[in-house]
Amino acid sequence: MNKLRPNAAAKVAGPAAILGALGWSFWLWPAHFLWVYPASGALFLWFSWSGEKEVKYIFLFLVTVAGLILPGVLNPAETPYQMIGAVAEVVCLWLLFFALSHFENSRKSSREALAAEEAAAEERIKNLEDELARYRMHLDSTLARIRDKGALSAAIQDMGLASSPDEVKARLEALLKNYFPGAAVELRSGAPRDFADKWVAERKIPLLVRNSETDSRFPRGFFGEGERSFMTLPLHLFGRLVGFVRAAAPEPDRFRAEDLRGAELACTLAGVSMENIYLFEKVNELAIKDALTGLYTHRAFQARLEEEMLRSARARVPFSVVMADIDHFKSYNDTFGHQAGDAVLTAVGEVISAGIRDIDFAARYGGEEFALVITGAGKAQAAAAAEKIRLALEARSFTFAGKPSRVTASFGVAEFPAESPAAGQLVRAADERLYRAKQGGRNRVVSE
Ligand code: GH3
Ligand code: MG
Ligand code: MG
Repeated sequence: MNKLRPNAAAKVAGPAAILGALGWSFWLWPAHFLWVYPASGALFLWFSWSGEKEVKYIFLFLVTVAGLILPGVLNPAETPYQMIGAVAEVVCLWLLFFALSHFENSRKSSREALAAEEAAAEERIKNLEDELARYRMHLDSTLARIRDKGALSAAIQDMGLASSPDEVKARLEALLKNYFPGAAVELRSGAPRDFADKWVAERKIPLLVRNSETDSRFPRGFFGEGERSFMTLPLHLFGRLVGFVRAAAPEPDRFRAEDLRGAELACTLAGVSMENIYLFEKVNELAIKDALTGLYTHRAFQARLEEEMLRSARARVPFSVVMADIDHFKSYNDTFGHQAGDAVLTAVGEVISAGIRDIDFAARYGGEEFALVITGAGKAQAAAAAEKIRLALEARSFTFAGKPSRVTASFGVAEFPAESPAAGQLVRAADERLYRAKQGGRNRVVSE
C-alpha cells in the first residue's frame, strides 16, 4: 500500500492542478460552477486515500469560500436555486469531509491498537526467548552437574578399590584436582600447621572461604595471591583427626557450598577406605602373627614350610628346621606367675627375632614352643644359629617382684632334604632331637 501512495510533492501538485483546472473551466463556463463541488468531493476521497492531512483543510477552506463568494461575483445571472444548490453542495462537502475524517481516525486508532498488540506480542516472544535461553542454561548446568556427580561416584568407587593408604590419598588428590580443574589441591597429614588448619581442628567442621579479601574471620594477609577462594577439610581416621585437605583458587567464588559438600563426602569416603585397609591388614596380620611374641603363627609356619620345601627342591639348596622349647617353664609360671611367664615368652620372641636373618622365619609353634626355618642352610649352620640364640637367651636376666631369674631353652635341628623329604617327618625329626636335648640336661642344641 505504501508503495502506491504518491510522494508529498505529487500530493500537493495533483490537487492544485485539479483545482486550477476546475477554476479555469468555471471561469470559462460560469453556468456550470455546481460541478466544482462533486469534483472537490472526489478530491477529498483522493486525499483520504493518499493519507493527506494539512492540504485537505486548506482545500476545504478554499472550496467553501469559492462556493459562497465566487458564484455571485463571476455569475451575476445566478438564480436563487443555484445559490441554494451551491450552499447545499458546500454543506455536503463538509459532511463528506467529516465522514472521511471520522473514518480515517477510527482506522488510525485500530491501526494503533494493532501496532500496540504487535509490540506486546513481540515483547512476549522476547520474554519467552529469554526464558528459553535460561532453561537451556539451567539444563546445560544440570547436565554438567549430573556428569560431575557421575564422575565423582566413579572416582569414589575407584578410591574404595585402592589397596594402600598412600594409594587412597593419591586417588583423593587426583579426584579433587579433576573436580576443581586449575585449583591447587594439597593433602597434609599430622597436626594443624596454620590458622586455617587450626580453625578446622577446633570447630571440627570444614572451612569455606568464598572471597578471602572480604572474609573477616581471618587476619589480613593470611591468604596469598592465589587463594581468593579457599577450602580446608578435615581427614579423620577411626574418629581421630589425622590431616587436612586444602584447595585454593585465584578467583573469588570458585567453590560453592555444594562443592564443599562434595569434597567433604570424598574425604569421608577416603577415611573409610583407609580404615578398611587398616582393618583388613590387621585381620590378616592377626591370622598369621602371634599377638604375644610378634612371631608368626603355627598355621603360617606350615605354609612357609611347604613353600620352602618347593623352593629348596627347585634350587637344590638345603634348609633346616629348628624346634625350641623353654626349659622348666611350668615351674617358672608357678614361681613368678602367669603374667611373668607371658613377659618371658615376649622376651624369647625378641631374642629369636634378633638371632635370625631377614630371610629366615620364626613362629610360635604352640605354648612355649618355637619353630624356625633357616633358609638355604644345612643343619650345621642352623645349629650354629640356634646356639647363638640359646646363648643370648641364657645371658638375659629377668626380674620379677624384685627377684632376678634366668631362662634357658632346648633346641632340636633337622635338615631338608637330606634327613627327611616330607614336612611332617622333618618337624618330627627336629622334635625328637629337641626331646633328646631335654633328656640330655636341657639348655642345649641337638642336631645329630
Ligand atoms: P620342660 O619343657 O623343660 O620339660 O618343662 P616345662 O615346664 O616347660 O614343660 P611343660 O610342657 O610341661 O610345661 C609348659 C608350660 O608352659 C605349661 C604352661 O603353663 C606354660 N605355658 C604354655 N603356654 C603359655 C603361655 O602362653 N603363657 C604362660 N605364662 N605360660 C604358658
Ligand atoms: Mg613344652
Ligand atoms: Mg618346656
